[in-house]
Amino acid sequence: MSKSNDQISDQQSCRLSIVVPVFNEEENLDKLFEELQKTLNATGLTWEILFVDDGSKDGSWVKIRKLCEANKCIRGIRFSRNFGHQYALFAGLVQTKGDAVVTMDADLQHPPDVIPRMIETWESGNKIVNSARIEPRKLPLYKKVTSKLYYKVFSFLSGIPIESGMADFRLLDRKVVDHILLFREEGLFLRGIVQTLGYTSATIEYQCQDRFKGVSKYTLSRMIKFAWTGITSFSIVPLRISIILGIFTSFVAFYQLGDAIYVKLFTDRAVPGWASAIGIVSLMFGILFILMGIIGEYIGRILIEVRGRPRYLVQEHAGFNIFEKGRL
Ligand code: UDP
Ligand code: MG
Repeated sequence: MSKSNDQISDQQSCRLSIVVPVFNEEENLDKLFEELQKTLNATGLTWEILFVDDGSKDGSWVKIRKLCEANKCIRGIRFSRNFGHQYALFAGLVQTKGDAVVTMDADLQHPPDVIPRMIETWESGNKIVNSARIEPRKLPLYKKVTSKLYYKVFSFLSGIPIESGMADFRLLDRKVVDHILLFREEGLFLRGIVQTLGYTSATIEYQCQDRFKGVSKYTLSRMIKFAWTGITSFSIVPLRISIILGIFTSFVAFYQLGDAIYVKLFTDRAVPGWASAIGIVSLMFGILFILMGIIGEYIGRILIEVRGRPRYLVQEHAGFNIFEKGRL
């Protein structure tokens, strides 16, 4: 590492901060640091890296501590347990000192050599530099399709345009970071928040790499949970679905009633049998329960919000001086 970077990073400010959430990424950290160091030193800017250990069960924290001891420009935070990727990113943003902050994954899927292009775009006046991945060929078809579909649904429901390849690999200006830190909500969905802020932004494309070591931490169930949190954090349209369905089913009911009266008064046919009635009643009950579930989900979110519990707990710091540790 360049000596000048080490000296300046030790002070209160630096030009660029890198935030990396880490969950069982022991085998990736050395390689990531090596690549970041090479790329960042070549930019000529002063920089720091912040690793946020999101309750790893492997040796990630030991590795982070070692890296912090050997390099003054690295700091680490360790959560008391796994609180989730989004909170790890947020906790990292809280601690950053840089004029610009880059958030990226620890698994080298986000290649460090994209950062200089991000810096260039930032220096030319963009306060937010998003990235759009060009998918690796290996990605399963169902992942590509569901991701595209999800972001289309999300954008439709929330009115916030997000492209499917926009992950949490982006550069944010200091001002933007300070504004993101004002969002104190539960169910954090940074992808959505960043798109609502305004500011001049640009998107750069990059070739997404395969994970260097280990496996993805986003299992199918976690992905569904994350997707649902995103929608319910940003849109109340699902609640309005009940009104639309209510109007529609009322029309059907009125039509059926009118038909029954007409048949009784003006024909000698019997009112059609009970099977259709039972069918419609069970359909209505099914829809009703789904809608009650959706309402319950939002009420649950309100409960979590009003309880106001801490969103994450920091158990340990590494590489921090005594004054910095108070900033949770
Ligand atoms: N991660 C985290 N907490 C979690 C899950 C993931 O901090 O609960 C980190 C993980 O270590 C990685 C990044 O978030 O640095 C993205 O996770 P992953 O690569 O598993 O997701 P994928 O790229 O497969 O969508
Ligand atoms: Mg990954």
